[in-house]
Amino acid sequence: MPSPCLLCKSSSHKVIFSYKEPDRYEAAVRVTAKNYFRKWVRCSKCGFFYSIYSRPPKVIHTIYETAYRDTNANWRKETAEEIFNKITALPEHQSETKKRVCWIKETIERVWEDGIIKKPAPPFSALDIGGGAAIFAYEFQDRLWRSYIIDPAKNNDFVKKKLKIPLIQKFYKPNRFHRKFNLISLVYVLEHMANPRSLLKSVRKDMDANSFLYVEVPDALASRLKPKDDDIFNACHLWMFDQETLTRILKECGFEALSIRRIKTLRNHYAVMALAIQKR
Ligand SMILES: [Zn+2]
Repeated sequence: MPSPCLLCKSSSHKVIFSYKEPDRYEAAVRVTAKNYFRKWVRCSKCGFFYSIYSRPPKVIHTIYETAYRDTNANWRKETAEEIFNKITALPEHQSETKKRVCWIKETIERVWEDGIIKKPAPPFSALDIGGGAAIFAYEFQDRLWRSYIIDPAKNNDFVKKKLKIPLIQKFYKPNRFHRKFNLISLVYVLEHMANPRSLLKSVRKDMDANSFLYVEVPDALASRLKPKDDDIFNACHLWMFDQETLTRILKECGFEALSIRRIKTLRNHYAVMALAIQKR
C-alpha cells in the first residue's frame, strides 16, 4: 500500500518502529488484530517522521468525540473536571501549562514591543482548538485576555457552567464564533489531524493581520530518544514534526514562524513550540 510522505510526496521510507496489535486507542474504537499493522517510518527524502497503518483512515477520528478523554480518564479513574482541578492547582514550577502560557505571553509582548506587528486595543481573544480539558484556556485568561474553546469532546460541561469559558462542542471550522481572534492555539493537535495543512489554512480565516498562531507538537526527536512503546507513538498520533518540518508546513500554509523552540517538558516529553504570524 503506497503511503507517500505528507510533506514531499516521496514513497521511499525507512521503518523505525513496527506494531503487530491494535493499541488501547484503536481497541477502544474496535480495531481488531486481523490483518493489522502499524508502523512509524522516516521519509528517506525529507526526513519527515510519520505513521502508516492498516485501519481505515477515518476510524480514529470517532475517538475524539467519545472515547478519547473518557478512555484516558478511566485509566486514571478521574473525571475531566477532577483532572482540571488537580492540574490547575499545581504550583508554577510544576505546571507545564503555566510555563507555556508564560512563554507565549512573553513572546507576544516582545513582538509587539519590537513593532513586528501592531498591538491591538485590549481585551484580547484567544481561541484554543482541541483544548476541551480547558486547562490551557483557563490558565491563559487574565485581565487582558479572554479564552474560547472549540473541541468535539462531549464530557466537559463544567467548562461552560463553572468556568464560564465559551466552548463549542464541535470539530473546528472557521467562523464558528463569528469573530476574529488575536491568538489561535493548537496544543498537541496537529499530530492528530489527517490533514494538518487544511486545518492550518482554515485557521487563517479566524485571524487578522495582527493575530498570532501558537502551535505545540510532540518533537520527532522522540523517535531517537524514546522506546517504541512510549505513549507518544500511540495510534492517535499520525505524524511528528521537528523544528524543521514544523517550520516547513507552517510556511506552506501561509505562516511565518517568529519564534520556535525545542523543549523537554516537565513530564519528560520532547516538544516543539512555535509562535507564528501570517506571512505578509
Ligand atoms: Zn518526505
